[in-house]
Amino acid sequence: MTLNGVKCTVKNCKYNVQGHLCSASAIEVNVDGGGIQANNNEHTNCHTFEMNK
Ligand code: SF4
Repeated sequence: MTLNGVKCTVKNCKYNVQGHLCSASAIEVNVDGGGIQANNNEHTNCHTFEMNK
């Protein structure tokens, strides 16, 4: 089961499937460094990420 409409290329996350899908039940995305406004897409990141072992 993967999250519909979510494309993620973070291959070393334990939830990543086939290098482009996410198998988490939900994800949380926040602004890098805190706050509620990102300047661009590079200032956002997925806090559901967990390193593959
Ligand atoms: S949990 Fe986040 S980083 Fe991991 S595969 Fe899903 S979207 Fe990507």
